[in-house]
Amino acid sequence: MSPRDCYFGGTFDPVHTGHLAIAAAALATDEVARVIFLPAATPPHKGGRSLRPFAERLHLLQLACGDDPRLAASPLEADLPAPSFTARTLELLVGRGAPRPILLLMGADTLLDLPNWYRPERVVELARLLVAPRPGVAPEQLRAATRALLPGDTFDRHVRLLQMAPVACSATEIRGLLARGLDPGALLPEPVRAYLLGTPPPEAG
Ligand code: ATP
Repeated sequence: MSPRDCYFGGTFDPVHTGHLAIAAAALATDEVARVIFLPAATPPHKGGRSLRPFAERLHLLQLACGDDPRLAASPLEADLPAPSFTARTLELLVGRGAPRPILLLMGADTLLDLPNWYRPERVVELARLLVAPRPGVAPEQLRAATRALLPGDTFDRHVRLLQMAPVACSATEIRGLLARGLDPGALLPEPVRAYLLGTPPPEAG
């Protein structure tokens, strides 16, 4: 199959350089022509804390993408019923003619949690998963955690582990730094950093 769009879902509160490193690793494969960030309008997994508004998280993603034609941010999930379930997003993309399997980009911690998602069997039916390493998650854990969902060699058909050095960076850490009035520096893409340092810091999550 020729290189095509790959969708990268998440909360992105805020987008950080770890996310961009993952997108770059996906673009370095022969499968991906463009990475489209899909911020969740109402993330199902981040209950409890207040999030930056969807429009602001989308704006930060657009700043991070800059004028790179291989990166884009889409408001697609704002049009879907809350909460933002990936199975529904994939069905919408298929309905709009996206070729199957849809490429989905995620970190290893997210793959570990996949069995707990809404209709995970539908997700693996519709998507091929490109997975970035994340500090604290061993590759063997991934196969074990998804064994019931992806038995035998289906794991290797549905999951591609991206070749990249793990990036120790999280939005939680960045929100904590900003809340204490500290500069996250290189943890943030420069236009995102400039925007966030010019606006009041959010509460730490
Ligand atoms: P938070 O700290 O608020 O939980 P986060 O840094 O994990 O946020 P999300 O927006 O929740 O960022 O993540 C979106 C996607 O990016 C998820 O699939 C997550 O696994 C992945 N991801 C984020 N940071 C990294 C990282 N440093 N290494 C690998 N994957 C990451």
